[in-house]
Amino acid sequence: MEFATLKTFDKSHEAYLLKTKLESEGLTVIIEDEHMVTLDPLMSNLLGGIKLKVPRDQLIRAQTIIGIVEAKPFLDQNNEVVKCIKCGSEKLQKERKGLDSFKDYINFAIAALFFVYPLNKQKFHYKCLKCGAITENPDAQN
Ligand SMILES: [Zn+2]
Repeated sequence: MEFATLKTFDKSHEAYLLKTKLESEGLTVIIEDEHMVTLDPLMSNLLGGIKLKVPRDQLIRAQTIIGIVEAKPFLDQNNEVVKCIKCGSEKLQKERKGLDSFKDYINFAIAALFFVYPLNKQKFHYKCLKCGAITENPDAQN
């Protein structure tokens, strides 16, 4: 059975809440990298967070359930609704970004070296549940 990542989390209890909901709807759900991220939160950036996965053929149904659970639209720092850059839909899913620049790797290396949390902000983007387009976080400062 091939699994696809449905959503990523920083905290395992959030993943388990959604897992319970999806399983109550009859879906098969697995959680990956939970122990690594829980033991060493610094690894979260490197691994891309705790991954909630469902079989690929159940992905659309799982996304629909998440859409209902998270029906509230995301707001930016000006309290405006974040919309998909491609289709304008408000049905977005927050996704964590991995390390994507040299600066991120340097921050991570320095944090790991001194056993402290990375100073850079948690990076995320929004994935459209309608068309799949990625909308960058409007509040991110690059
Ligand atoms: Zn869209």
